[in-house]
Amino acid sequence: MKKECKECKLDVEIWNKRCKECGFTLVLEPNENKKARFLKGPSLGALLFTQGWTFGARVYVWFLLSLVPVVGFVALFACLFFGRRWSWKYGGWDNWDQFKNRMRVLDAIGLIWVTILVIIYFAAKK
Ligand SMILES: [Zn+2]
Repeated sequence: MKKECKECKLDVEIWNKRCKECGFTLVLEPNENKKARFLKGPSLGALLFTQGWTFGARVYVWFLLSLVPVVGFVALFACLFFGRRWSWKYGGWDNWDQFKNRMRVLDAIGLIWVTILVIIYFAAKK
């Protein structure tokens, strides 16, 4: 999601809000503001199940990296904080709703996944 800088006419990603070239602050409509906030938000799903999240979010490079020990740990944090922006930029989504719904579903699956692990953990302890 890009907006043109009024100063230098450069395309700026809306989550940056500020033009890298000249430092001009973009004026975002309420709707764009909401999207920018969503894109900057953490992706809980990536924290809880990194492999599944990166695959579902279509950031396949990170999916491969998340399979590598140690690097996978880095991928976890990288995707937790930047995952939504990368997914939006590189995921090839048809539209915003498709992207947003997928993010929601992935976060939900992450939560369910952890819940199941906790249940298994306590069940196995007995
Ligand atoms: Zn500019």
